[in-house]
Amino acid sequence: MKTHRSIALVGALMAGLLGGAAAHAQQPVLNLYSSRHYQTDEQLYAGFTKATGIRINRIDGKEDELIQRILREGRASPADVFITVDAANLQAADEAGLFEPVRSRVLDERIPAQFRGEDNRWFGYSYRARVIAYNRDKVKPEEVRSYQDLAHPRFKGRLCVRSGGHVYNRTLMASMIYNYGDENALDWARGIVANLARAPKGGDTDQIRAVAAGECDVAISNHYYYARLMASDKAADQDVVRKVAIVFPDQQGKGTHVNVSGGGMLKHAPNKAAAVRFLEYLASDEAQAYFANGNNEWPVVGSVRLNNPQLDAMGRFKVDQLPAGVLAQYTPKAQRFIDRAGWK
Ligand code: FE
Repeated sequence: MKTHRSIALVGALMAGLLGGAAAHAQQPVLNLYSSRHYQTDEQLYAGFTKATGIRINRIDGKEDELIQRILREGRASPADVFITVDAANLQAADEAGLFEPVRSRVLDERIPAQFRGEDNRWFGYSYRARVIAYNRDKVKPEEVRSYQDLAHPRFKGRLCVRSGGHVYNRTLMASMIYNYGDENALDWARGIVANLARAPKGGDTDQIRAVAAGECDVAISNHYYYARLMASDKAADQDVVRKVAIVFPDQQGKGTHVNVSGGGMLKHAPNKAAAVRFLEYLASDEAQAYFANGNNEWPVVGSVRLNNPQLDAMGRFKVDQLPAGVLAQYTPKAQRFIDRAGWK
């Protein structure tokens, strides 16, 4: 009797365990490796789980560390999707052989070819512009109409910019090479170095602040750092915005250099169906708004409208049509030119 009951109990326990295991195995998951860390990304992931029932396991890290980790894990890697910022980082992951092409009509229709990597191995979901910031009192906007203006001798000792080796400047340099040829691009980099007000230091926001502080009169920055200052309620930040304005360069020429935030499906992804659904979800209206707004960037899906006062205030601008994938291929040469010009 006693034995009987024990067996029944063990049986019930086992059924429970197996049932639990089965339920667990059925709950689909997506393993996401991300070097983005914006708070609105949380809403994005919650939205995906709500829409698809697929749970997200997220590993956060720096892009190069995540790329190394995925390489180390090899075939055993649990990573399904890798998302990061900048075409050069996406390209680095691609060159390391991490991505697998994704065939998806949704992505083909919604993401312009300009914002996709070679053979659809990665996709850009939002874009950011590299803009010129200038002191409203000391510089006229017509003096800074193009990136090339920044290399003009009139700005000698008046320019602030972060290090040349930083991926934002390397990718900008790649666009200069593509648009104007090797010689002109190298001359431009030398002109930038000749005009520096100080040795490069700090991030983009530091360059904008240095313009406000009078340490320099012009600077290069991604637009969203300025958007953050615009949105800030700190008096010091508002003061910076009062003193410093931005322009979208090359509106008369090729258009302003833009770069992407994006991701792709990994070759050894154990959950490929979930990976494709996630990449498609990121192109949906809802996700595009979260993805882009999270860092005050523009959605790549042209029909998506953002309710973002800072971006609205910046207005529309002509975008350089250079494909992000092509741009990324020029980054090794860009780095060599940056080194040759002595842009530390
Ligand atoms: Fe940034």
